[in-house]
Amino acid sequence: MSIYLHDTLRGEKIEFEPLKAGEVTMYLCGPTVYNYAHIGNARPAVIFDLLARLLRRRYKLTFARNITDVDDKINQASIETGKPIGEITERFIKAYNEDMAALGVLPPDIEPRATQHVDEMIEMIVALIEKGYAYEAEGHVLFDVAADPGYGKLSKRDIREMIAGARVEVAPYKKAPQDFVLWKPSTPELPGWESPWGRGRPGWHIECSAMSAAHLGRTIDIHAGGQDLVFPHHENELAQSTCVHDGEPFARFWVHNGFLSIDSTKMSKSLGNVLLVHDLIKTTRGEVIRLALLSAHYRQPLDWSDETLDDAHRKLDRLYGAVRGIDIDDAVRSSARPPATFVEALEDDLNTPRALAGMFDRARALNKTEDPAERQKLAAELLAAGDLVGLMQSDPEEWFSGSDEGDLDAAEIESLLTQREQARSSGDYAAADEIRDNLADRGITIEDGSSGTRWRRS
Ligand code: AMP
Ligand code: ZN
Repeated sequence: MSIYLHDTLRGEKIEFEPLKAGEVTMYLCGPTVYNYAHIGNARPAVIFDLLARLLRRRYKLTFARNITDVDDKINQASIETGKPIGEITERFIKAYNEDMAALGVLPPDIEPRATQHVDEMIEMIVALIEKGYAYEAEGHVLFDVAADPGYGKLSKRDIREMIAGARVEVAPYKKAPQDFVLWKPSTPELPGWESPWGRGRPGWHIECSAMSAAHLGRTIDIHAGGQDLVFPHHENELAQSTCVHDGEPFARFWVHNGFLSIDSTKMSKSLGNVLLVHDLIKTTRGEVIRLALLSAHYRQPLDWSDETLDDAHRKLDRLYGAVRGIDIDDAVRSSARPPATFVEALEDDLNTPRALAGMFDRARALNKTEDPAERQKLAAELLAAGDLVGLMQSDPEEWFSGSDEGDLDAAEIESLLTQREQARSSGDYAAADEIRDNLADRGITIEDGSSGTRWRRS
């Protein structure tokens, strides 16, 4: 069997084949770092972490997830808090990575930051102007949508909708309302870089076009993100990248996750229903949240409620319960492969509901079997399935004994201690203290001694 993925551009599920045999490139639009990630932001992080794990079984994957660390929302946060921009972005990059690690999200291969790629963005904008796809006006550079006959093909919008979408941005210097910003001027207090159009800063869309070309090449295999990014962000990335590269395809597959709502309502600050991962992991184990996020098919909407977490917790209890007390021989464990039907479900456009149902079937079969060798084999295969999806990563006894909600497992604690050590050795004592305080909040006391740092549950 092959891997099948739904491609937004072609509007159907298609057999996946990479451009270069054996190698895959994937780019996921990452966070804008001005506050903590909410549970909706965690959905693409977890879904595409799963896709990355699946691809790595067959291919040499290069997975880039960027950090948007220059943005008007960050500037606004700096004005509101009086804190320097660099302090805000560093703090929330660290928080994002810690929060996602708690959900079992493995680090991407490359985590490019926008502020480190401004030269590439300027080069791309210069080339777009030279090729007739962009124009300068009053210190701004705009993409000339009318110059790109392919514009609109990803989001399948007609021009009236685009104009409506652009309305907030209508500005006198634009030739047409749907033209979007590649570069804009900065005032002296705002972050800015010297450019052929004066001191300024990039628009959001050009960041991703420049970073993906710099790290993954002109044509990438998979471009991923949440559904809300299809228009305008991905439509604009597609326009910039194909025009600057003389029509060479930008992404061979566009994969988008559906939206997460809370109690059937859109998450929003004004409604006060924004659920931050940072808060949730204080009371709920990361694996419970991960399973809850994987329980719906990624392209479907996911409605989140207390019941979602209770249900995920019960499911994990069932899985851990099935393997509890089975002493699996090391050789059996290391040679076990996830069941073929389980892998096939995942390779069929990430059908996690079907794959998880397969895990519960396996747990039921395990509970019914009495033959010790068969029990070992079934348990080892169930754990191998767990390894692939990033679940069942705790010791079953630990799961049940310390299963007070919010308990960190040993690996999570060790990973936080490593991050604290890195913060200390780079002189960032505030970050190191924050990690120690965080651990203390979650019942973990640490002691620094001559032979390193030790921890215990208090
Ligand atoms: P942002 O920082 O707003 O650019 O969002 C980061 C990622 O989270 C993007 O891929 C968004 O599409 C995704 N995202 C934001 N809100 C939700 C949500 N409620 N449900 C699912 N994905 C979301
Ligand atoms: Zn992007």
